Amino acid sequence: MSENEKYENFEKAIDNSSYKGVIISPTARLRKVLDYSDATLRMKTRNVVKFDDKLARILDDMKLTMLVENGCGLAGPQVGLLWKIAVVLFGNEYFELVNPVILEADGESIETEGCLSIPSKLNGLVARPTRLRVQYQNRTGEIVEKEFNDWLARIVCHEIDHLYGILFIDKLVK
Ligand SMILES: [Zn+2]
Repeated sequence: MSENEKYENFEKAIDNSSYKGVIISPTARLRKVLDYSDATLRMKTRNVVKFDDKLARILDDMKLTMLVENGCGLAGPQVGLLWKIAVVLFGNEYFELVNPVILEADGESIETEGCLSIPSKLNGLVARPTRLRVQYQNRTGEIVEKEFNDWLARIVCHEIDHLYGILFIDKLVK
């Protein structure tokens, strides 16, 4: 994706205070997405314990960054934060996952996956569950239990992997 395209997306997001159906906070800032050569992407993350303004600001920044980069998910380590946090967007469905845990997973599908931290020429086939039951917290600390199916299940798995230092290129179907 070119810098120009990113800039255009950024302008749209800021001008409309909503982009792709998602509300953008007026104070959100773009964060730099780390490249997969950065060791941070291989580190494990900590649970979030404080559900304060700082967490809200970070999630706002991650949301804006994901939208501007045309991503469908972004995890803490990708913006240099070793916290168990991720944002996910699929269609008009937007989720913020704090301290997510997979409770159940079943089914399997193999599809081509990519990642904002990895050049798209390395996109490849990955097997993922088709149904997940996940427990997570929202930005205010409320515990949520939710089922994700098909592509959403794939994206959520990909983001949770990031929280354990795992990248999709580790899991390519040969
Ligand atoms: Zn990724």
